[in-house]
Amino acid sequence: MEKLTLKAYAKINLHLDAISKESNGYHKVVTVMQTVSLYDDVTLSLRGDGLICIKCDIPTLPCDSRNLAFKAARLFFEHTGIDSGVDIEIIKRIPMAAGLAGGSSDAAAVLSGLNSLCGYPLETSELCELGAKLGADVPFCIVGGTKYADRYGDKLHSFLKMPDCAIVVACAGEGVSTPFAYAELDREYGNFADGVYQPHSLDALSSAIERAEVRGIGENIFNIFESVVCPSRPMVNKIKGILKEKGAFGAMMSGSGPSVFGIFPSEESARVAMEALVEEGLPSFLCAPVEIE
Ligand code: ATP
Repeated sequence: MEKLTLKAYAKINLHLDAISKESNGYHKVVTVMQTVSLYDDVTLSLRGDGLICIKCDIPTLPCDSRNLAFKAARLFFEHTGIDSGVDIEIIKRIPMAAGLAGGSSDAAAVLSGLNSLCGYPLETSELCELGAKLGADVPFCIVGGTKYADRYGDKLHSFLKMPDCAIVVACAGEGVSTPFAYAELDREYGNFADGVYQPHSLDALSSAIERAEVRGIGENIFNIFESVVCPSRPMVNKIKGILKEKGAFGAMMSGSGPSVFGIFPSEESARVAMEALVEEGLPSFLCAPVEIE
């Protein structure tokens, strides 16, 4: 059987704002997402008996129908009517429940990989629609690169191209569940009962990206979740402090946290920061932006 190995990349949010809450409980967001070069390996091979079997090198990640990769495969076969099963092997490097979309990225890799192994029955837009049923970040993980997204973070728009730079991603201990982060946000923002908040401006970030000014990018990253998640995750501020002390132009929590990223002027300074974090016992990764298309 043909085997296909895909890189399932992590994402960071260069900008993440919440502007309202729908009656269905979902929050509307405005975000700029960026693929970074930290990835899980997802290997797929079709099997004739209709079973979906997952192996993963991390014992704490369930390999049954709770795994997003399993849900993605089941959805793909149901939607296309293709009578097949698949073996899925995941080598996990992206920290879990960290705001880096690791699960969403594995699911995206399964959808894209199965589409390839089955002779491309679906267009990319259809894959993204399927992906959105699994999670708001999945469409972004399918297309990757630098994207502006609104609605629930699932409606993608093309954006400026991020210049090459060095990014350190560090993990701040115990994971944050996305529902917890939204509940904290609701508490802080009065349940968004006053309607739609004026989103924070993206202008300074956009023009820094357009002019390829890495310092300006670092200085204008934003995440509305940071201030509400920080009180329960003191490591976030500690990591931000270390990243800035070691020369980051800016440091910010990613997604609903608690991972933190820093944007650096050079790979050398980023490496020094990463080593300082590792010395403190904090898993850290030296990354760069990844353009997929
Ligand atoms: P997001 O930024 O998309 O909200 P996250 O980065 O905060 O997600 P994930 O690492 O995607 O969080 O995982 C969230 C939860 O999903 C975890 O608690 C984990 O148990 C579950 N999960 C299911 N499948 C996977 C998978 N393949 N990889 C990681 N987590 C998974």
